[in-house]
Amino acid sequence: MSPRFPRWHVGGTCLLVETDKGPVLVDTGLGLHDFFSPALMVRFFRFDLGVHDDPDSTAVRQIARLGYRPEDVRHIVMTHLHFDHAGGLPDFPHAQVHVHRREVEAMQHPRTWIEIAYDRSDFAHHPAWVLYDEPDAEWLGWEAIRLPFSPEMFFVPLFGHTRGHCGVAIQDGKGWLFQCADALPANTEYDITPPWLSRLVLGPHVERLRSWAQTHPEVRMLAGHMWKSFFEAQNRAA
Ligand SMILES: [Zn+2]
Repeated sequence: MSPRFPRWHVGGTCLLVETDKGPVLVDTGLGLHDFFSPALMVRFFRFDLGVHDDPDSTAVRQIARLGYRPEDVRHIVMTHLHFDHAGGLPDFPHAQVHVHRREVEAMQHPRTWIEIAYDRSDFAHHPAWVLYDEPDAEWLGWEAIRLPFSPEMFFVPLFGHTRGHCGVAIQDGKGWLFQCADALPANTEYDITPPWLSRLVLGPHVERLRSWAQTHPEVRMLAGHMWKSFFEAQNRAA
């Protein structure tokens, strides 16, 4: 995205994790239908946020370049169901979709201004939901919900951005990757968001996540949207 502000070049982060149950997607980003037949709300956001008109950036086309077919993805873990995270769900109709129960309720009955950013056409294919409720584990000091995959994966409830928004912790070699999604601003070292705006849009967890990250250098923190420099660094590393 290149919104109409100077130097704002942001991308959405989706992860493909190799597990004992095959490749698992964590969030899908925009999907093909968002480019070829976008809903009115998505058209508005695409214009407003300056989303590049590039269907090759969708998860389904990116994983095809890695040699996977859409039907290889049997499981998708969702941080939340906003259109910019869930738009790719119809591209993977065979997948079970793991998400917090509160998030599906928020999508079905939106109450707050930020909960209007659900696009019903992302769910028109009636995804096979796998719903989660109460924390049943602890992950490095956070209440967590264990997900049924190896390497280990946990939902970390970070409600606030939306009613059922969760971070996802993923065991990554010797360390961990913590996808905080929209509970954290894009790459914090460049963060220019004033605290009041950050609290309004991202919810109440930013300060705790930041101070926690200081004491856990073995955990790589990730936000749902990262500045362009992050993706350029990933491409160089690949
Ligand atoms: Zn969101």
